[in-house]
Amino acid sequence: MSDKDDKNPFEEMQKQFQEMLRNQGTSSFFSQPPPGPGAGASAGTEPQEKTSEKQREILQRIRDFNLKPREIKDYLDRFVIQQNDAKKVLSVAICDHYNHVRQCLEKPDLAAKEYAKQNILLLGPTGVGKTYLMRCIAKLIGVPFVKADATKFSETGYVGHDVEDLVRDLVKAADGNVDLAEYGIIYIDEVDKIAAQGKQGARDVSGRGVQINLLKLMEESEVNRNSQTDIMGQMQAMMEMQRGGEAGKRTINTRHILFIVSGAFGTLGENIKKRIESSQIGFAQPGGSSEKTATEYLARAETSDFIDFGFEPEFVGRLPIRIACSPLTASDLEEILAQSEGSILEQYKTDFRGFGIECEIAPNAIAEIAARADSEKTGARGLMTVLEKIFRSFKYELPSTSIKKIVVDAQTVSDPEGTLKALLQDNQSSQQQLLREEIDRFADRFYKEHGMELVFEEDAVSQLVEESLQTEKTMRALCESRFRDFQHGLKLIARNTGQTRFNISANTAKNPDRELSQWVLQSYHHSAGRITRGEE
Ligand code: ADP
Repeated sequence: MSDKDDKNPFEEMQKQFQEMLRNQGTSSFFSQPPPGPGAGASAGTEPQEKTSEKQREILQRIRDFNLKPREIKDYLDRFVIQQNDAKKVLSVAICDHYNHVRQCLEKPDLAAKEYAKQNILLLGPTGVGKTYLMRCIAKLIGVPFVKADATKFSETGYVGHDVEDLVRDLVKAADGNVDLAEYGIIYIDEVDKIAAQGKQGARDVSGRGVQINLLKLMEESEVNRNSQTDIMGQMQAMMEMQRGGEAGKRTINTRHILFIVSGAFGTLGENIKKRIESSQIGFAQPGGSSEKTATEYLARAETSDFIDFGFEPEFVGRLPIRIACSPLTASDLEEILAQSEGSILEQYKTDFRGFGIECEIAPNAIAEIAARADSEKTGARGLMTVLEKIFRSFKYELPSTSIKKIVVDAQTVSDPEGTLKALLQDNQSSQQQLLREEIDRFADRFYKEHGMELVFEEDAVSQLVEESLQTEKTMRALCESRFRDFQHGLKLIARNTGQTRFNISANTAKNPDRELSQWVLQSYHHSAGRITRGEE
């Protein structure tokens, strides 16, 4: 714990609040549940019950932890491509950690014994799966997981965040359950940026302060559940106490929390390369070190390299497990897209499925996406950037069309906008063709049912197609409602004139009843004329 916690301002505040409440006689306010979502007695009770049942199950699973390293690796293989060494080392470290947790719970005296926690330092470029590995592990075990960038912390916590906030965030990730949070995993990225002013001229001294604070957490400390700046949280805790209920744990113990710190450590790789190369002068072999990239040297980092880089010896000492993740090649990226159960492509497919659209990805598209992502030089993150660019307009346009399937190929990847435009045009003309055929079918049915032939002129067809598209009514429904009872008038005309074939113009298609009444009138004139001329 930091010095500021020693004074325990919480108790002082609590006294002041109680005093204030007594003076104002408003303690009844605090005996009610605080307003807000889920705060009402009945509203809050049920979900609370369910959550705690679920939490009990997870806690039991942690207490019964019995996974083997190979099982963890097998699970990781389903999601994370490559990083085999990292997976193996991590699997062993995780088993050791949670086996130790289980044993401490079984034999509490073991907990009192000295134990060097297996905190982990993950090295490697961005987007190669460092966080993903740990997220998958946390999910497998069921423990809460939080991630933060080391750069957002400051030594004092007054500017920037306090490292202890991470532990409190773990409680939030555990739905408020401190017991569960105490077995969680905290992942701190960009830790290379908090290296103090070392030989490399890295960050300022406050980086050192953050390291020291992290160091305390990594060992064992009790963190207040509510931060000193979280007035609301403190008041809520007080209200719980005022209600006389079980206030729950006020502090979180970090003994069993697993800490993972990670970073790209780009310049560290270069330093190690120099160190190794200088020690090999005169022994250089063909195909040797000079062909390797700086990141590949990270696997050979030693404690002294980290200290030279600007880390406190104690800080590096608390991170006994160091794992270097390798950069991903274009073919790894291809494999991620095609094989990983967590492939981002699946996410896009699910998004399209939400609109009833099936999205198929051709193998040549996968290769093209991977090649483009590779040139972004951000590991698998490049895949997201490339896919976003490809699908952006498709996701906007397709849901409003009748298109129910798309096949993404290499051409789509290289020219998404052009492909989409052609697809929309095709769709429009094929949709229009379907609608035209529907008009023919309506005319056929009309003839069969009433013996009258309707001949739709081109402008009438265009008129109806446009209306059907605009109103999103099927052509069948549109024609049937528009020409409802049309046959009665036509039959009158047929009787007067013998005419059974009628041309439908755009005007007639727009307002058939008005046209029909004129036709009927004319037919009477026609028949009257025939009578006058003595033709009948
Ligand atoms: P970082 O190494 O910077 O921590 P992340 O693990 O956060 O990178 O990777 C970002 C995303 O890229 C992950 O959520 C995952 O979807 C994907 N990804 C990265 N590396 C791999 C990998 N080796 N196998 C499968 N997916 C990966």
